[in-house]
Amino acid sequence: MIDIKQIPEFTFEMILNAANEGIYGVDLEGKTTFCNEYGAHLLGYEIDEIVGQPQHNLIHYKHPDGSPYEKENCPTYATSQDGQIHHIKDEVFWKKDGTSLPVEYKSNPIYHNKKIVGAVITFNSREKELKLEMERHQALAQLRQSQQELKAVFNTVVDGIISIDEKGTLLHLNRAAESMFGYKSKEVLGKNVRMLMPEPYTTEHDSYLENYLKTGKAKVIGIGREVVGLRKDGSTFPMELGISATVNDKGYQFTGITKDISRLKQSMAVQARLVSVIENTDDAVLGCLLDGTINLWNRAAQRIFGYSESEIVGRHISTLVPDDFQHEPAYLIESIKRGQTLTNFETKRLRKDGLIVDVALTLSPFFDSLGEINGVSSIARDIRHQKELLKEKENLIQKLEEATLTDPLTGLLNRRGFASRLDNELARFRRNQRPFSILLLDIDHFKKINDIHGHSTGDRVLQELSLKLTSNTREIDTVCRWGGEEFLILLVESELSGATQVAEKIRAAIEDMKIQADRKHLPVTVSIGVSEFENPDTKFESFLKEADDRLYQAKSEGRNRVVASDLS
Ligand code: GH3
Ligand code: MG
Ligand code: MG
Repeated sequence: MIDIKQIPEFTFEMILNAANEGIYGVDLEGKTTFCNEYGAHLLGYEIDEIVGQPQHNLIHYKHPDGSPYEKENCPTYATSQDGQIHHIKDEVFWKKDGTSLPVEYKSNPIYHNKKIVGAVITFNSREKELKLEMERHQALAQLRQSQQELKAVFNTVVDGIISIDEKGTLLHLNRAAESMFGYKSKEVLGKNVRMLMPEPYTTEHDSYLENYLKTGKAKVIGIGREVVGLRKDGSTFPMELGISATVNDKGYQFTGITKDISRLKQSMAVQARLVSVIENTDDAVLGCLLDGTINLWNRAAQRIFGYSESEIVGRHISTLVPDDFQHEPAYLIESIKRGQTLTNFETKRLRKDGLIVDVALTLSPFFDSLGEINGVSSIARDIRHQKELLKEKENLIQKLEEATLTDPLTGLLNRRGFASRLDNELARFRRNQRPFSILLLDIDHFKKINDIHGHSTGDRVLQELSLKLTSNTREIDTVCRWGGEEFLILLVESELSGATQVAEKIRAAIEDMKIQADRKHLPVTVSIGVSEFENPDTKFESFLKEADDRLYQAKSEGRNRVVASDLS
């Protein structure tokens, strides 16, 4: 028990002002008897403003909630009454400016001659402490919040998250990991993580852990690598695994993030197959965005169009379009945007070397992940060869048709060939009523030529005679081999008199022909019957018969002559 009066004044002052807490004294009535600088400073007063004042009324008159604090209940007052030390940890003093100061204070009795003469109160601001406490509270709340968020993430992420301790004991499994492996957490927690992997990982795992703990080097720590997972049902699946290590008071903890990549691997395999099909097909496969920018180009496209992938990707599709077809890409892209597909659309495209190629395009839309059309894929088949084949076929058909209409020995039209020309001539006659005429011509005693000089000489006579017939008629006239050694000539827009003159010219030309046979001149003559087609109602057969009759007449009159009218 210290008797305050026994402390020398200067020591007392020194102690007061060296203290880093507020100190003041009160007498038995509660009036302040002294106060140190620090205490006055904390309360916002000068020492003079405090000393002599009833301390309870000055700084302690109400509770934090504003309700009055009765002096009788004041612990400092109580000390001077009961001589007890009162230690109050959480109250407020009121500062000069009316604001509160949270404080912790102790009130000790002051004795003089073993009698209580008052109390000394030591106090300190709790502001810092409260601020720290509040900060701690906030930090805790934030921690709790982020833990909750983390937990939510932990359970909603699509990747599996698995934590183990340094012995491999399973500590946590999120929902994705549960469904990936087919276990509920409670079935596996506390067991060794080896149960989630097949051989050889099961055996190797302990040594992985040991190795890491010894050397700090890990085979799987860091970015993902591909391993195999084992499900509860015994099936395995490829997964990507990344592991991070942390240390806490219980030692190392490893957290693995796993991703089931079976689907990815399947789709990668499908994709690889597709890429190989696209790369190895004979058709150009190309793609472009809706603005026409080329973004896909296979090997066949390079072969057909001449551009390499690096040259063409990023350029506009119109690069491949000849000038006359420049309107086409926009039109085709529009159709695709409307959801149409085009199959075997035949068009022309421009190669890098400037040549035009015939192509058949099959176009279909590209879709993005939301199912929106975002581009066009095009399969372009080079149909140049196909077109050439088609042309060859057409030529062949034409030749075959011509062959059925012409006579192989002389190259003249045969009867069928003549029939088609005759149709034209009858039509023309109906249009302009201009008559045409025919000459029916037969070689005289041709049988003898064959008999004496042989069949091949006979053939030669037929060929040379045919040339004479064509050279003595006009381009528009028709000369036809009507039968063995019989010829029919149609003279376009010719009346009987003109036709007779032509017939006579032919007859004379043939008579003058110099055909060599057995080193001699072979005399060849012909008889000709002439007839004019003047009446559209006449049947061609009867018109022909008229010519035939006249031919017969020429024969019977001695051959080598032209007969153009009937005997009568
Ligand atoms: P005519 O003056 O009365 O007409 O007497 P012809 O001997 O010419 O009469 P015919 O009709 O009896 O004889 C026609 C001959 O023509 C019979 C046949 O052997 C011959 N002949 C028909 N076609 C060919 C052919 O393509 N080549 C050859 N070398 N001879 C043919
Ligand atoms: Mg004959
Ligand atoms: Mg004859």
